[in-house]
Amino acid sequence: MEEPAVPLGDLYSSSMGVDWRELPHLPDYIPISPMTLTCPRCKAAPGVACQKLRDEVELIHIERIEAAAEKDLAAKKARLQ
Ligand SMILES: [Zn+2]
Repeated sequence: MEEPAVPLGDLYSSSMGVDWRELPHLPDYIPISPMTLTCPRCKAAPGVACQKLRDEVELIHIERIEAAAEKDLAAKKARLQ
């Protein structure tokens, strides 16, 4: 079965429960956007969505989100040292 791709607009609100872009003050730690990475699955270039739904909704692969989360983790660890 195909892994589902995720609508980009839903990513932060669904995964974190908060849309950090709406916050009045920027947090000192900003999650890395999967969009800044090359997708490990379909090789979509940074800034380019993996897929488009009806030319409206940009979708990105789970693998790309996980890659960003790993970078997030590495950045967090570096900050704690
Ligand atoms: Zn992709």
